[in-house]
Amino acid sequence: MELYGTEDKKCPCGKGIFQIEEYSDDWNRYETRWVMMCPFCKVNYVLWSYVIYEKGIGFKNYLWIPKELNQKIKKIQFAILKKKKMLIRFAKKQYLDEWLQYMQNFKSKRAAWEDLRRSNINFPSLSTFYKHIKHSGIEHYFQEFFSFENLQFILKKLKIRDVHVENKFREISLLKKKELDIETQILSQGFK
Ligand SMILES: [Zn+2]
Repeated sequence: MELYGTEDKKCPCGKGIFQIEEYSDDWNRYETRWVMMCPFCKVNYVLWSYVIYEKGIGFKNYLWIPKELNQKIKKIQFAILKKKKMLIRFAKKQYLDEWLQYMQNFKSKRAAWEDLRRSNINFPSLSTFYKHIKHSGIEHYFQEFFSFENLQFILKKLKIRDVHVENKFREISLLKKKELDIETQILSQGFK
C-alpha cells in the first residue's frame, strides 16, 4: 500500500487535528487510516470502526469515540461471550449425548439431513452437508453443530424445555439489547 494523500481534520477537542491517510496499491485497492495527532485526544479517544452497506457492498467507516464508551461496550461484549460459553458448556453436559443419540437413529445420512433441513431453513444444502461430513465425520459434525447458535433449535428437536437455559437466553438477549443501545450512542456521539 502506498500513501497518496492526506487530509487534516479538526480533532474532537478542537485544539488539534487528526489526519486521514489515503492508501492504494497497484490492484486499485484503497484503504484509509485515521491517525490522531492531538496529544489530548490521543489519550481520551479511540478509533471505532463499523461497516455500512450500500447496495450490498460493505464500506468501512470510522469515528472517534470517548475511551469510556469503548470500555463500556467491550465490557458488555465480553460478558455476552462469557455467558454464551457457560451456557453451551452446561447444555453440552446435559444434552450432547442425547443429541448425538437422536442423530444416530436415522437410517441414513440423507434421512438425517432431510429431518434437519425440513425444520431449519438455515441448514446447509445436501451437497454441502455431504462435503462437511466427508471431511470431518458425521459424529464430529453433529458435535460441532451443538453450538450456541443452534442450541434453541436442538432443544426444540429433542423436545426439551429447560428453565435454566431459557433464563440464560433471556439474560443474553438483555445484554445484547444493552450492547445495541451503546452502539446507537456511539453512532450519535462519535466524532468524524
Ligand atoms: Zn484534540
